[in-house]
Amino acid sequence: MFDHNDVFVIFVLGGPGSGKGTQCANIKNDYGFVHLSAGDLLREEQQREGSEFKELIQTCIREGKIVPMEVTIALLEKSMQEAIDTDGKKRFLVDGFPRKMDQAIKFEKMVVESQFTLYFECSEETLVTRLLKRGESSGRIDDNIESIKKRFQTFKDTSFPVIEYYEEKSKVRKINAEQDRESVYIDVQKILDISLQRSDA
Ligand code: AMP
Repeated sequence: MFDHNDVFVIFVLGGPGSGKGTQCANIKNDYGFVHLSAGDLLREEQQREGSEFKELIQTCIREGKIVPMEVTIALLEKSMQEAIDTDGKKRFLVDGFPRKMDQAIKFEKMVVESQFTLYFECSEETLVTRLLKRGESSGRIDDNIESIKKRFQTFKDTSFPVIEYYEEKSKVRKINAEQDRESVYIDVQKILDISLQRSDA
């Protein structure tokens, strides 16, 4: 368990294709955060020689289902510990997580409490267009219309309640992700500048 006063975690949520990864890359560059994408960590684990979770992860990703929290949380915690041990970095963007209430509760109890959640809000129509476009070159097994529909359903049924839960605690910072990526990043910076100033005070 990390100390909440020492290790700073921002959760990053939004529907598939809402631009979480793109904006996290910007934040990483400009603010020196460590960017940990739950989806990327799962894809790496799926490809790791000897992983016992290969098939489970592959099936979940293709079906747009949530990979069991034990697997996802263990991967995140390990990466956080590595970043702290090797670079002494303690500010993390945890992207695509928590996607289910049980993950949120468990992570905050066993790993560290989050500061807040950045939520990239975007209409389904825009998301489909972006994902299909990305699918032309991403090579991802889930950027096709069948998987996309399932991912949306999972987002609505399972992930959206997490956003509502944090909203009730006033821990959501909402961003209009319908805009072009430059405009979205301007909004992101405004939020981060205010929040980081507060945390440094
Ligand atoms: P992403 O790269 O964020 O679009 O995630 C791709 C897929 O990875 C999702 O559809 C899930 O199957 C899986 N995944 C990503 N994040 C999580 C998470 N926090 N918990 C469980 N499964 C996840």
